[in-house]
Amino acid sequence: MASEDIPNGFTGFSQRRPGFQSAGDALRRSRIGSDGLVDRDSRGFRNTETQAARSGWQVPNAVKPEPQTQKEQGLWGKSNDFFPADMRKYLTVPESGQSGPQFNYEELSDIPETDKRWSWVQVDLGAIHHNTLALKQLLEPGVKLMAVVKADAYGHGAVRCARSAMSAGADYLGVATVDEAVELRLAGIGAPILVLAEPPAATIPLLLAYRIMPSVYTAEFAVQYAEAADSIGLRAPYHLKVNTGMNRIGVRFDEVIEFMRRVSFHRALELVGTFTHFATADAADTMEFNIQASHFVETIAEMRAYGIDPGIVHAANSAATIRYPEVHFDMVRPGISLYGYYPCPETYGMVDLVPAMSVHARITQVKTVPVGEGVSYGLLHRSGGFTKVCTLPIGYADGYRRGLSDRIDVIMEGNKHPQVGAICMDQCMFEVDLRTRRTLGRLEPEIGDEVLLVGAQGNAVVTIDEMADLLGTVPHEVCIGFGTSRMPRIYS
Ligand SMILES: *Cc1c(COP(=O)(O)O)cnc(C)c1O
Repeated sequence: MASEDIPNGFTGFSQRRPGFQSAGDALRRSRIGSDGLVDRDSRGFRNTETQAARSGWQVPNAVKPEPQTQKEQGLWGKSNDFFPADMRKYLTVPESGQSGPQFNYEELSDIPETDKRWSWVQVDLGAIHHNTLALKQLLEPGVKLMAVVKADAYGHGAVRCARSAMSAGADYLGVATVDEAVELRLAGIGAPILVLAEPPAATIPLLLAYRIMPSVYTAEFAVQYAEAADSIGLRAPYHLKVNTGMNRIGVRFDEVIEFMRRVSFHRALELVGTFTHFATADAADTMEFNIQASHFVETIAEMRAYGIDPGIVHAANSAATIRYPEVHFDMVRPGISLYGYYPCPETYGMVDLVPAMSVHARITQVKTVPVGEGVSYGLLHRSGGFTKVCTLPIGYADGYRRGLSDRIDVIMEGNKHPQVGAICMDQCMFEVDLRTRRTLGRLEPEIGDEVLLVGAQGNAVVTIDEMADLLGTVPHEVCIGFGTSRMPRIYS
């Protein structure tokens, strides 16, 4: 089949006319090298040192054009323009008689993710180390810390975050599912891991093979787990989950003694810890919290009175760890605060947390919109006529929640600018007010300029906590939205 006949839009691809210059060629030429601008990197991005440092943007050595051979000239024309230097490594020049270029698919798969789509999440592992230390400083000596790394460490990457927290002294890891625990083991992490719920019985072989402790609250699971372990000469360690009032999972606090009587006959079962979870540790009102706390204290005392050693006693999530030292017991279980977000306004200022996640994008289009014209779905935002409307390739499918539309700012070169119009699935717009040119300095946004959607630059800050407040939700949901989306995640 002649290349012209390939029904995919690339007809005549191998036979570009001499002198032909595509729009992409023209753009690249105008942005790289030849325009004499010194503040551009090899990809043509205007990229100040601070921006580059913040974004972790790595600039590879520019690919040097090599002299062309006769054969290449014959196919591609006489000038380098017909075979741009940055295309060389991605394809082989066809042998004579072949009709099209031969692409190198390995090289193609190495194109950096942040080059393929101009939006990404950056995670600062140093912040997680710092936050772990800051939380540990709230604890009496000897109190353990379980780093809760469920949901891929709230979208920050479970394996990397677990390692950072452990290097700062975390003793235990908490996950939601057996698969999450197996992922940590396969990465070579040896710390004790607790699944914070009772998993299906089908996972028992995995628990034993990978030394993963389950939470237990049904006698059926306890016995199956113990029998499976015993049959191969292993112990069956577990933590008992006590329901003290949240009514999600657990043995009800006033049925714990009876439950322990039912299962304790099994010699393989080993109670390593006893825990509960608070429903209102992050609420302004403290009454319900106090009721749950006293149910738990009484249950532990009762177990001891009956000669049952509860093992490691634990209850506190981030909010309780920060607000209520009296419920630290033997171990605390912070999640959200490890990643640098405050579980509730009551905790602001009570501990020094550094947000680990920042969200970045590059401008994909800049335009002036005549006064009165609308922007984005519904045309709900109207142009004042004195702005540049800039488009970013990030939307609610990337965790940039639609409910934030027209209510949040983005940061460019240390200044805040309002996001305008409805946030779309994959894109959104923001506006640069040209009347502030005098006070803010240079205000000529261009395609490729880097923008921060979450993070800090100069005095400008946009936080996950602020977004959660605006949306009437918790920061957990907002950071997981960004971090588990299709955006690439890079580490610093
Ligand atoms: C998720 C979770 C935590 C951590 O809660 P944060 O609010 O993120 O600190 C602690 N314990 C249990 C049982 C959990 O499910």
